[in-house]
Amino acid sequence: MRYEWYRWRWAALDWLFPPTCGGCEMPGERWCRDCQVKIAPVAPPFCERCGQTTSGGGLCDRCISSPPKMTAIRSWAVFDGPIREAMHRVKYRRDVALAEALSRPLVGYVRDLNWHLDIIVPVPLSAKRMKERGYNQAALLAKPLALGLGLKYCDKALSRGRDTRSQVGLSLDQRRQNVHGAFSASKSMVSGKAVLVVDDVATSGSTLDSCAEALWHTGAENVYGMTLARAVLSSK
Ligand SMILES: [Zn+2]
Ligand SMILES: [Zn+2]
Repeated sequence: MRYEWYRWRWAALDWLFPPTCGGCEMPGERWCRDCQVKIAPVAPPFCERCGQTTSGGGLCDRCISSPPKMTAIRSWAVFDGPIREAMHRVKYRRDVALAEALSRPLVGYVRDLNWHLDIIVPVPLSAKRMKERGYNQAALLAKPLALGLGLKYCDKALSRGRDTRSQVGLSLDQRRQNVHGAFSASKSMVSGKAVLVVDDVATSGSTLDSCAEALWHTGAENVYGMTLARAVLSSK
């Protein structure tokens, strides 16, 4: 499917069901200019590996002491203000059209990173969670991103074998343990490929790291991570 067609389809739905802004509820657009202006980009200096903001750039302390599995992780915006509202709406209030609006800036952002990529893969939900929610919010961002970049979208490349509890409220070590070994990858889809894994929000990066582990294990050539937003770490 072409990117223009994908976007047009959502725009047609806006015409039928006039949207309100995902950040401030103003009627008219899915994502308004005011909210866009309020977005705080994850600006340098940040760790060149995990993408978490640091005071001096280079590698952060965490990446020096225990290097992450991803070659690099980047996030577009700080998880705060209207973007926090919007992600909540995508995830818990079934505003699936909003995800398409939020994915748009990611296309240029990822292109400017100049990463060599072959395929785009969303962080999968467990079968149980997928059944409850009916859609995967990471896939709603990853699909238009793949179309916009002209890359292959592989939503079956990763699967989540077991249901993991929410990472909210867990310490860094607990987060790592919670998702360790939770994912497996399809060898035929990822072997020899440079993979970009997409998620909505990253905090510690443990989920992406666990995905990376599965992808390296199945012979991926390279593994990068991209999230729409980045939560500031509350504990070290
Ligand atoms: Zn707004
Ligand atoms: Zn780091």
